[in-house]
Amino acid sequence: MTQIEKLNENFNNNKFYIKREDLLPFSFGGNKARKAQKFKEDIIKNKNDVVITYGSCSSNHCRIIANMASELGIKCYIISPNENYYETNNSKIIQKLGAEIIKVSLDEVKRKISELVNEISKTNNPYFIQGGGHGDLGTLAYVEAYEEIKEYEKKENITFDYIFFASGTGTTHAGLECGKINNNDFNKKIIGISVARNKEYGREIINNSINSFFKTEGIDYDITFLDEYVCGGYGKYNDDILNYIRKVMLKDGIMLNTVYTGKAYYGMIEYLKNKEIKNKNILFINTGGTPIFFDDLEVM
Ligand SMILES: *Cc1c(COP(=O)(O)O)cnc(C)c1O
Repeated sequence: MTQIEKLNENFNNNKFYIKREDLLPFSFGGNKARKAQKFKEDIIKNKNDVVITYGSCSSNHCRIIANMASELGIKCYIISPNENYYETNNSKIIQKLGAEIIKVSLDEVKRKISELVNEISKTNNPYFIQGGGHGDLGTLAYVEAYEEIKEYEKKENITFDYIFFASGTGTTHAGLECGKINNNDFNKKIIGISVARNKEYGREIINNSINSFFKTEGIDYDITFLDEYVCGGYGKYNDDILNYIRKVMLKDGIMLNTVYTGKAYYGMIEYLKNKEIKNKNILFINTGGTPIFFDDLEVM
């Protein structure tokens, strides 16, 4: 259960709230910590003794999974693409946590994963987690987060018209959409700001995740996944993003980052501006990534 707070932002006379997923109490929190809790329960149930996953050098997911493995006392392998690999706070923490990072080129990732899983299966009982904690368990984590939002609405007698957040693999997005469907909340707009993917691919994956979660097939859900604020790709940012990060830091004491939350915050304000949305209740989900904030200190 994470808290929801009021923000000082008042753009277009909207009221802004923030859900503090960044305060989840494990390994700097964030949405990957919420998903990892589900994987941890599954690993304990299945008695797995090795965990394998993949992600980039700045992956919050890989940090949390490496930390989960160290907590459980099991070996962790992280497959990471060679391209664009550089040292970050996350990559350094992952090394301190004792995970083994295997760098391969992007088009080798798939082959390497199945090779490693096959190899380790000969002697051990490995658990494989898709990048970003994608899959039904990750979706379930955000169906539960949606229920927390509903509880807050009931308790505070408020209705959020919009929910904004950074969308990557789309798992968080899919979970929130499933929660919305479960609650028949047809008037609530769920808006994912893409941090990398184009909207066609992003929507397709989210749609597949929703179908998979409900064990249905071929249903086309109405998904708003915006790619116009990507700023040229994963990890890329502009001056507006830096200015919003500074503003939220100064006014609210909350540290956003360029890769995810700062980009999403920028996308949210731009969207409200372009659509001339006024006088609404808006929830921003702080999906975390605190170590990345410290990578950003250099450019701030
Ligand atoms: C992974 C991540 C996201 C994107 O979440 P998905 O469920 O992969 O879409 C957003 N914010 C942060 C901080 C993340 O680490």
